[in-house]
Amino acid sequence: MKILVPVKRVVDYNVKIRVHADGSGVDLANVKMSMNPFDEISVEEAVRLKEAGSVEEIIVVSVGPSKSEETLRTALAMGADRAILVETDEVVEPLAVAKILKAVAEAETPGLVIVGKQAIDDDSNQTGQMLAALLGSAQATFASKIELKGDLARVTREVDGGSQTIEVKLPAVVTTDLRLNEPRYASLPNIMKAKKKPLEKKTPADLGVSVAPRLKVLKTEEPGGRKSGIKVKSVAELVEKLKTEAGVL
Ligand code: AMP
Repeated sequence: MKILVPVKRVVDYNVKIRVHADGSGVDLANVKMSMNPFDEISVEEAVRLKEAGSVEEIIVVSVGPSKSEETLRTALAMGADRAILVETDEVVEPLAVAKILKAVAEAETPGLVIVGKQAIDDDSNQTGQMLAALLGSAQATFASKIELKGDLARVTREVDGGSQTIEVKLPAVVTTDLRLNEPRYASLPNIMKAKKKPLEKKTPADLGVSVAPRLKVLKTEEPGGRKSGIKVKSVAELVEKLKTEAGVL
């Protein structure tokens, strides 16, 4: 069985985001970029499933500018076998990404597509669900455990206040949550080996997909600063302020 893992190049999670003064978007100049953390979890899970013997090949795919090749090489260094870069400099919305992934999945026929639950740049949480719908396949979102059993996947899902275990028929789309695993760091020898692993380049047009935007971002704002606290002299004053100012009593 093959596993397909989409990986997105995003602003590194440690970077403090700056918004352009005119509110037109996020300043990406000289900002450190990395693999989306949920996609690292997906790659790790695919590698573990391969190490357990039930998977023959892991294919990673990224939609984005030529620099996304670095992200794909990282995934190859973690243990993926080959990569596909669908190259475009346009901003690609989740529906267009899902259509591109559908075309790749139809060509590669993976038994499982492991998608991150969300990309930490746009926080859309849409691509995996849309992909499953476009493929007409089963989906199991927010996975904290994945077990393969013949033509089924048993997936434990993170749900409000607990977990839910479901079985889905393969081929399926699973989206990964934080508790699924702790991704490995690529070793230096594996980073060197990854440079020689196959990486194929395509464009959205090669796959028959238009990436023309369907939505327009009107405004991007930084979160408002926190108000500073005050000291009160007595419990009575505190209660008074909670009643009259905070309105919580
Ligand atoms: P989103 O729906 O944008 O929050 O993204 C959810 C997941 O879809 C990500 O964790 C990736 O696995 C995948 N994805 C989204 N955008 C891309 C992209 N440009 N290239 C590859 N995978 C992507």
